Amino acid sequence: MSFEENIRRVTPYTPGEQPVKKVIKLNTNECPYPPSPKVSDALKSMDTDALRLYSEVTCGTLTDALSSYYGVPKNRIFAGVGSDDVLSMCFLTFFAGKDPVLFPDITYSFYDVWASVYRIPYETIPLDDDFNIRPTDYHRRNGGVVIANPNAPTGVILSGELIEDVISHNKDSVVIVDEAYIDFGGESALPLIDRYDNLIVVRTMSKSRALAGMRIGYCFGNEKLIKYLNDVKYSVNSYTMNTPSLIAGAKAIEDDEYFKEITGRIIKTRETFSKSLRELGFTFRDSSANFVFAKPPVPFEALELFERLRERDIFVRHFKKPERISEYLRITIGTDEEMGELINALKEIMK
Ligand SMILES: *Cc1c(COP(=O)(O)O)cnc(C)c1O
Repeated sequence: MSFEENIRRVTPYTPGEQPVKKVIKLNTNECPYPPSPKVSDALKSMDTDALRLYSEVTCGTLTDALSSYYGVPKNRIFAGVGSDDVLSMCFLTFFAGKDPVLFPDITYSFYDVWASVYRIPYETIPLDDDFNIRPTDYHRRNGGVVIANPNAPTGVILSGELIEDVISHNKDSVVIVDEAYIDFGGESALPLIDRYDNLIVVRTMSKSRALAGMRIGYCFGNEKLIKYLNDVKYSVNSYTMNTPSLIAGAKAIEDDEYFKEITGRIIKTRETFSKSLRELGFTFRDSSANFVFAKPPVPFEALELFERLRERDIFVRHFKKPERISEYLRITIGTDEEMGELINALKEIMK
């Protein structure tokens, strides 16, 4: 017997590259604009003596701000170190049963990793040929359901009515709706937490609030579910969020005007960029997120374009697996200038 037999082994999630030199970075769906000036003011004037003390276990500074902004009581909010932390805690807390947890075959590629590391049984449900989620596929016995809406990496939105269909047909399991991109389009499931005690709605400040480096995520749900989540969190690591993140997150939420301005700008850029990309012959579904997921015209291949762009210091994302999406590129929406440079580079490569 060797100690290797006792080791928990898992195939990890592959994060998008973080290049050190200056490049056009359209590969991890970060925001091209800086965070709110209120965030930088608060961090610059922060009393660093406060760092002597452990951070707030309740994350109260942040959940207070979230509570007044969204009009949701504090006992229905849970915060964590990015929504990856929130989602991972949700998997650990809510999916301790024997029936398989269901999620689409093409979706955020961390879901199957958490299921594996926590030994949670799961089953993936194929999207239809146009990358739509079919709610009726989820009308069956399961140990939980996870849906990213808008979905990643497709950018396709499921209507509020159809999301509710999934939630209402699964009252005996927890349904997690991952709304990492909802600020760029689509109807949020958040109001449904008043009517469904099996619903968790997850959000992040990494994309629409320009704070990926601060690691701030949160979720909403029935107070009972939130209590169970906190019980697990306090059994793993109580002081998850650091003090500067709590302050920065609260300030980002308070500056609604700035938030609306940058998300509005990204949506506008997405629309003009989508038009130019279609003119080059790419095909794709309309995106409700801050990226587009597009297939190049014949005879061009996604992997080759990915590499040729990379040689020019333009980073986009290509997924080799599953095979169904290996002919697509996921392109984050940057500034108008960045998207213009990308279009010019594609024109040169494809001429
Ligand atoms: C980016 C992303 C996350 C994780 O974001 P954090 O930076 O950990 O908050 C979660 N879900 C989806 C679908 C994402 O695209």
